[in-house]
Amino acid sequence: MKPYNTPVYLDYNATTPVDKRVLEKMYPYFSGKFGNAASKTHAYGWVADAAVEKARKQIAALLNADASEISFTSGSTEGINLILRGVAGLYQSKGKHIITCATEHKAVLDTCADLEKQGFEITYLPVDKNGLIDLKTLENAIRTDTILIAIMWANNETGVIQDMKAIAEMAHRHKVILFSDATQAAGKIKMDIQETKVDALCLSAHKFYGPKGVGAIYLRRRDPRVKLQAQITGGGHEKGLRSGTLNVPGIVGMGEAAKWAAKEYKDRNLYWGNLSAFFLENLSRKLKGWHVNGDFEKRINNTLNLRFEGIKSERLIKLLAKDLACSTGSACTSAIMQPSHVLTAMGLSDTEADASLRLSMGKDTTQEEMEFVLEVLSRAVEKLRAL
Ligand code: PLP
Repeated sequence: MKPYNTPVYLDYNATTPVDKRVLEKMYPYFSGKFGNAASKTHAYGWVADAAVEKARKQIAALLNADASEISFTSGSTEGINLILRGVAGLYQSKGKHIITCATEHKAVLDTCADLEKQGFEITYLPVDKNGLIDLKTLENAIRTDTILIAIMWANNETGVIQDMKAIAEMAHRHKVILFSDATQAAGKIKMDIQETKVDALCLSAHKFYGPKGVGAIYLRRRDPRVKLQAQITGGGHEKGLRSGTLNVPGIVGMGEAAKWAAKEYKDRNLYWGNLSAFFLENLSRKLKGWHVNGDFEKRINNTLNLRFEGIKSERLIKLLAKDLACSTGSACTSAIMQPSHVLTAMGLSDTEADASLRLSMGKDTTQEEMEFVLEVLSRAVEKLRAL
């Protein structure tokens, strides 16, 4: 018997399983400790509230932030909507110009497109062939009416990490709020908002071994104090920023997942670095005519976006379905079969983008799994090329 399950799951950027250590901490809050964290008049509410506040501290610790700077959401799509629309709504008297990047997640791009319809002007920065933003181009795009810069920390398709520290320094110099979608960075790289001074960011628990449907935003409390216009009203939860009964078990899970992410991210990153080096070295021995998409150094080590000449990755994925679970691009857009907007923004042709595959490893991915994937993947590429 194989020491792993097939298909081998290499789609951890789409979602991760809940860590068993996390699940254990969540259990009591489904039934025994079922109180509403907003119930201030009895012990059931106090217990739930204490659990939520503990999780808030754990998430703040992951970012080196203060617990008061963390608010809970249902995930990053909501966090992105809340921050983009919330900043736009509140700061529009100062200006209606927003800067973002062509390779952002659809949650950012679609929200920006909607804001455009409401009269905001959006600048979409290009990236170079490695997926990186040019800082001079960014600085030239900043205007007196720019109210927000939205640049993701790490890309979900290629893993490319932007120079957030330099971008943050620039945003502060120009007194523009900087928001970063940090969904894929959490649990993979260091995120210290005292050192890298982003003003707002969003996280999603299910990307770092927490449960689905729960997330958080960070909003800087001073220098500058970031304020938002609430998008969901009713009850005034989360200091009026986001009304709605809190998902207590989910929040407990997110806090616990953040605790382990803070403790383990360095080891995870090192492990993925070695595993991907092993994989690529052996792939070069087995197969010719493939490339890594995106910057190889400035990258979250768990993500490999590979392009195989002469094939269509959609067909490759179908052929491999019983052996490998991976993705052609962002999971959120894979229902619509279009070439990846991230890869085409990096200058790849539609054919090249369609020949690309994303393998994203998890903290428990083993060398045996990667050896198996090497075999089946190279065999399948050769088979498709021979057809
Ligand atoms: N931003 C990035 C970079 C992502 O990878 C994702 C998830 O695919 C999201 C936002 C949306 O996150 P959620 O699933 O929490 O809505």
